[in-house]
Amino acid sequence: MFNLSSIPTTTTEPRHVKALILGAGPAGLSAALYAARADLQPVALTGTQIGGQAALTHTIENYPGFPEGVGGAELGDLFKKQAERFGATVEFDSAQAVDLSQRPFRVRTDNGEFTADSLIVSTGASPNKLNIPGEAELTGRGVSYCGTCDGWFFKDKKVVVAGGGDSALEEALFLTRFATSVTIVHRRDALRAGAILQKRAQENPKIGFIWNTVITEAVGGEKLVAVKLKDVQTGSESDLPTDGLFIFIGHTPNTQLFEGQLEMQDGYIKVDDRMHTSIPGVFAAGESADPHFKQVVTSAGMGAAAAIEATHFLEAHGG
Ligand code: NAP
Repeated sequence: MFNLSSIPTTTTEPRHVKALILGAGPAGLSAALYAARADLQPVALTGTQIGGQAALTHTIENYPGFPEGVGGAELGDLFKKQAERFGATVEFDSAQAVDLSQRPFRVRTDNGEFTADSLIVSTGASPNKLNIPGEAELTGRGVSYCGTCDGWFFKDKKVVVAGGGDSALEEALFLTRFATSVTIVHRRDALRAGAILQKRAQENPKIGFIWNTVITEAVGGEKLVAVKLKDVQTGSESDLPTDGLFIFIGHTPNTQLFEGQLEMQDGYIKVDDRMHTSIPGVFAAGESADPHFKQVVTSAGMGAAAAIEATHFLEAHGG
């Protein structure tokens, strides 16, 4: 159980809010919109970025209402503006420690401390790493986890993409705008990604595939120059010269802060069908609580549901 003495105290008095939202991706900002319209005057803390992972996506084509697609960062900005219009406050701040042992809940952040009558956790997920030699050292020098952020640096260069899911294919397609070639290295002989992305990737002349293969090392000094490959069927090893390695092999929910306090399953916060966690008054939404769907639209829906339930909870229990 959390021990308040284990984190340094702040000199200022905690700010009290009716609804505190941790995270400002599609789930957090939708929760902020609904909580604001219920007059809870919610505060949403952004964590590392507004818009969550969606903001790192160049174009989102499957969020309803945008038939031509919408930029990920732009959508995040629109979510924020809409929530603010009804009185939500979105602050650049990150939670460092939480005490959920009693209400009001206490949350220590980079900038101070909050007490909150209800809490909505929408802390999202972070990209997984391959955990291979050279990966950490060469991150930012050829190794990347975000095509939208770093693609431009690979103009007229060769890149490798690790993974076979929607993210890998979507990012590989985006990278073809800059790179001369994009080689997708996948550990199996079948892609996990949906049919439309598979078709687009297979039809793109700049994209090639290496099947049944894993990347075992990122090679380079000042910058990445090659990746080492291993065929998982034959065991044969080879070097593939490349300027970039983009890694899209899934995500891990950002839930470490709640370990030992909220019930979890496989690292995801356990919620019932109304977004209630194991602690009354604490709700969770989006990828931190969603092992299944992980779509912008489903995260937004979970966020709205969490805020509606928080409103009902506060009506029944005060605050
Ligand atoms: P994902 O669907 O979990 O796919 C991860 C991919 O990485 C899989 O192909 C997996 O291989 C591979 N992989 C995992 N660990 C690996 C390792 N250690 N070494 C090599 N390869 C490894 O993850 P995602 O693509 O990030 O997508 C996450 C969720 O977001 C999904 O639900 C997806 O549908 C959704 N999403 C949707 C869109 C869209 O709708 N446009 C865009 C992006 C993401 P295996 O296939 O062998 O397991």
